[in-house]
Amino acid sequence: MSEVEYVVEGAVAWIRLNRPEYRNAQNSAMTYALDAAFRVATDDDAVKVIVLAGNGKHFCAGHDIGTPGRDVDKSFERQAVIWWDHVDKEGGDQRFARESEVYLGMCRRWREVPKPVIAMVHGACIAGGLMLAWSCDFIVASDDAFFSDPVVRMGIPGVEYFAHPWVMNPRAAKEFLFTGDRFSAQRALELGMVNQVVPREELEDVVRAMADRISAMPRFGLALTKKAVNQAEDLQGMRAGMDSVFGLHHFAHAHNAEVSTDSLGGLDAKSMAARNKEQAGE
Ligand code: ZN
Repeated sequence: MSEVEYVVEGAVAWIRLNRPEYRNAQNSAMTYALDAAFRVATDDDAVKVIVLAGNGKHFCAGHDIGTPGRDVDKSFERQAVIWWDHVDKEGGDQRFARESEVYLGMCRRWREVPKPVIAMVHGACIAGGLMLAWSCDFIVASDDAFFSDPVVRMGIPGVEYFAHPWVMNPRAAKEFLFTGDRFSAQRALELGMVNQVVPREELEDVVRAMADRISAMPRFGLALTKKAVNQAEDLQGMRAGMDSVFGLHHFAHAHNAEVSTDSLGGLDAKSMAARNKEQAGE
């Protein structure tokens, strides 16, 4: 089974994360499959708008930190940044290489796809899932969607694509990170992090209608407009801010590796999920 499904309907390319049995946890195979899908959609002149969605009950539960398909020790043909392969390296050398490519680099690349990309979010959108949704141009969420970045529990200051202070206000970003709490779709809407919240059963229709409306605009005009807004966002410090935080992020990984059993502070998918659920009162 492919990690990503790709279907074109009219002028819209639908990219669906396809590891529903693992709540669409992202392994490298998935990020490279996503990258390939974005490239196909970019090259296809018939495609005007791209939708990124998730199969199954949830949009995406984060990076793969514990499924049988976890592939952190595998090499892939690198696409996002010019750096050496991580696999035969050690410690920070290995982590920095991998995360520069597979996480930060990929998300930045997707943010620059020259066609409008709509994230269609339902259910969980946690940690690495946020990175996918945030690198899209905008987010339409169903009323059952929720967002959280609980990685501070691992002693790490947020996920690798540190857009938090830009996609919501800095005080909200601190609350989001300090508590690790789930923000509902409604709260995310109030903070300007999502564009629209709709009933679950209407989600796909609303996104389809929006994609159709956008696809009436000229392709090159859309591409330039996207670039214009992205450039403005970068002038507000997002790109440089993320670079500086990436250093703190890797300092935290290294500190964990030094004082605990591993770079994630001894927490894996199971223990993280248990603590997240406990905190959410489930
Ligand atoms: Zn990391």
